Amino acid sequence: MYTLPALPFGYGDLEPYIDAKTMEIHYSKHHQTYVDKLNKALEKHPDLTKQPVEKLLKNLETLPEDVRTAVRNHGGGHANHSLFWTVLGKKSEGPVGKLPSGKLAEAITECCKSVEAFKEQFSAAAANQFGSGWAWLVVKPNKSLEIVATSNQDSPLISGKTPILTLDVWEHAYYLKYQNRRPEYIAAFWNVINWPEVERRFAEATK
Ligand code: MN
Repeated sequence: MYTLPALPFGYGDLEPYIDAKTMEIHYSKHHQTYVDKLNKALEKHPDLTKQPVEKLLKNLETLPEDVRTAVRNHGGGHANHSLFWTVLGKKSEGPVGKLPSGKLAEAITECCKSVEAFKEQFSAAAANQFGSGWAWLVVKPNKSLEIVATSNQDSPLISGKTPILTLDVWEHAYYLKYQNRRPEYIAAFWNVINWPEVERRFAEATK
C-alpha cells in the first residue's frame, strides 16, 4: 500500500508565495486522493505495490494492461506530488529561493545558456502548458538537462527521464490565491525552491 509522504514543512511555511489553505487542500486532499485511487487500482496486483511508485512508472509498458492507465494517472499523481513537496521550502532557510549553484548551475548553463535564461525558459514552459500539467527540469539518459512540460499527471519517468525539479500548474495548485493568474504563481515559485534538494537529486541522477 502506498501512503502520503510526510510534508517537509508546515502548511503556512510557504506564505505568502503559496498560501496555507492551498497547501493543506493540495496535500491532504488532492495528493491523498491519488494515493487512495492508486491503492484501489492495484488491489488485484498486491505484488506491484511492493515497488516504489517511481519504478512502476519507469516500467509502465511492462505492467498488466488493466492497471496501466491508473498507474499513469494516479501513480503519476502520487510520484509527482511527492517530488514537488521535497523541492519546496521556507524562504528564510539558507539557499531556498536563491539560485542554483555548483555543478547543477554549470549543467543548467550548458542546457540553457545561463541560469537566468533557464529561469525564463522554465517559467515559459509552465505558463504555456495548456490545461492541467507540470513543468519539469529533467536529467536525460545522456546525463544532460532538459526543460519539459507534461499534461495531466504524466511523469517524465515514463519516457526514461529523471525529474529533479517540478512545478504543478494544475489550477488546484494556485486557484485559491491566484485565481486565473498562473504567471504570478509561477513567479512566486522561485522564492520557495529548495535548491539543495534539487542539487542532491541532480548529483544522484548523474553519478
Ligand atoms: Mn497538484
